[in-house]
Amino acid sequence: MRAVRVTKAGGPDVLEVADVEPPAPGPGEVLVEVGAAGVNYIDTYQREGIYPMDTPYVPGLEGSGRVTALGEGVDGVAVGDRIAWAETLGSYAEQVVVPWAKAVPVPDPIADDVAVGALLQGMTAHFLVTDCRPLNSGEIVLVHAAAGGVGLLLTQLATAGGARVIATTSTAEKAELARGAGAAEVIDYTQVDDLAAEVRELTGGTGVDAVFDAVGRTTFDASLAALRKRGTLVLYGAASGPVPPLDPQRLNAGGSLYLTRPKLFDYIDGTEALRARADAVYTEVAAGRLDVRIGHRYPLEQARTAHEDLQGRRTTGKLVLLPS
Ligand code: NDP
Repeated sequence: MRAVRVTKAGGPDVLEVADVEPPAPGPGEVLVEVGAAGVNYIDTYQREGIYPMDTPYVPGLEGSGRVTALGEGVDGVAVGDRIAWAETLGSYAEQVVVPWAKAVPVPDPIADDVAVGALLQGMTAHFLVTDCRPLNSGEIVLVHAAAGGVGLLLTQLATAGGARVIATTSTAEKAELARGAGAAEVIDYTQVDDLAAEVRELTGGTGVDAVFDAVGRTTFDASLAALRKRGTLVLYGAASGPVPPLDPQRLNAGGSLYLTRPKLFDYIDGTEALRARADAVYTEVAAGRLDVRIGHRYPLEQARTAHEDLQGRRTTGKLVLLPS
């Protein structure tokens, strides 16, 4: 079968399409024909070696497709069923073996690319605003990179919960998308000298209740400075690079601030938690209350271009690879 393969850590050019042996499902696993593989920022961290990987490997943690064979002892799913997954390496391929306990059923009205667009990024947006920093109606939050995969979903969920979203984006087109997702105000953070001052002005000098920041190095200081007293900074990624070590005294000086650095996999810990969260997101999508924007569909051969576009800030919404 065709798959993307990485033989050494490096830039996007280490992503090569190769013919590899198709996998076979072991006990508790299912074989899937991949309909769409999700491209996520974590794939770039793994490719670059920021998260060390054993090589060679087939990248991609996320996908959606149809079950074609069952391993021993698999119960509750049949050949032909549609499933999706968000934590199974090897998804940039025509076929992948997925542990059934790490998979979720996909409701029929949801297409493969949308199922993928809603899963890792959708569950991330969901855990951030429901469990990590539950939002109350009337709260004001700052969402960075609001036209991105997570950003658009997070903005919609926060707005639906009654929060007022101040968004940041880097272009007018992205600003328009953020507004469409519900952002009340959008700041082009590439054009302002003092982002925190802009945010304070929009909040009558008070600052925001929470900041959702996955940009990291370039936004971190402004994010802290934009918080109200006892506000929370949710640092959930590092698209611009990792944040340097921090003196906790800064949280004191900023007004008894809270800082958390969460990851999705701690919030979908176990099959029940995973399926409950996926179901919550898919229910919103199927009901038309959560719009999943597929920013770009690439053939498997263009995985390299997908990574370049993602890291080059040229994308909006979800990127998917289509194996066939
Ligand atoms: P996005 O689609 O949001 O793409 C990243 C965006 O970040 C860009 O489009 C860009 O938006 C913004 N950005 C700002 N500065 C830079 C920079 N120097 N280089 C690249 N991008 C920059 O990606 P995802 O939705 O896939 O992921 C968003 C973030 O969420 C990532 O940091 C990822 O690691 C994190 N994440 C964390 C999870 C967790 O469990 N903690 C789970 C899933 C994702 P703009 O042009 O508007 O500035």
